[in-house]
Amino acid sequence: MKTITIDGEEVQISIQPSNARRTLDIEFNPGEITIKVPRGQKVDLDTIIAKRRDLFTRKYREAISKIKLLDGDIIHIGGKPHKIETRETPNPTEPRVEIAGETLRIQTKEKENPLEILKKWITEQTRHLIQDTLQKYEEKLGTLPKKTRIQYTAKWGECTKKGYIAYNWQLATLPRELAEYVIIHEAVHLQHFHHQKGFHKKMEQTLPNHREHEKKLHRYIAIPADFPYKK
Ligand SMILES: [Zn+2]
Repeated sequence: MKTITIDGEEVQISIQPSNARRTLDIEFNPGEITIKVPRGQKVDLDTIIAKRRDLFTRKYREAISKIKLLDGDIIHIGGKPHKIETRETPNPTEPRVEIAGETLRIQTKEKENPLEILKKWITEQTRHLIQDTLQKYEEKLGTLPKKTRIQYTAKWGECTKKGYIAYNWQLATLPRELAEYVIIHEAVHLQHFHHQKGFHKKMEQTLPNHREHEKKLHRYIAIPADFPYKK
């Protein structure tokens, strides 16, 4: 088995001999490329990768079909797409950001950038999500972070050796279970700093579906770090 990196994701490539096949066939799954070869046929994985790397990359992207968390005026909240609608001169009795069915409504005062308001709101949602998730898994986790921060970089989450955790402001845009996966993943690093046996064992105990979640997470393209773009 070999690993190649596609769009920052580690993708495993393996060969699987097949009795049923008379020609080579390639299967694409999240995090995995499987090359099925007729049994008895000799193939060298390194050679195939060297020759077909571009093809693998292109086909993999197609097969996995990435999802942009912000795509034009469509924003995902909790993994569900919503159309952004902006209204000026807000009704003071209504919240500044509101979800109504498949619409996300932003109310702006004069000269306010609605996307700035949206960013603040998503950050707030993420803050609640982190609190709720850590509370929900407190017993299983055992150790909770001393302090969590919200960050505006490209990473979903980060843990330092000193026990500080930073989470991405846009976790609330992801499907809930994937956001929870990120939150728990970083919290588990408090006890197991490296991705080694102990880490995986603890992840298994805390969140049995964590590998599936990790793969799914790669399908999502985050909102660019410089959002809302300065003009
Ligand atoms: Zn990690």
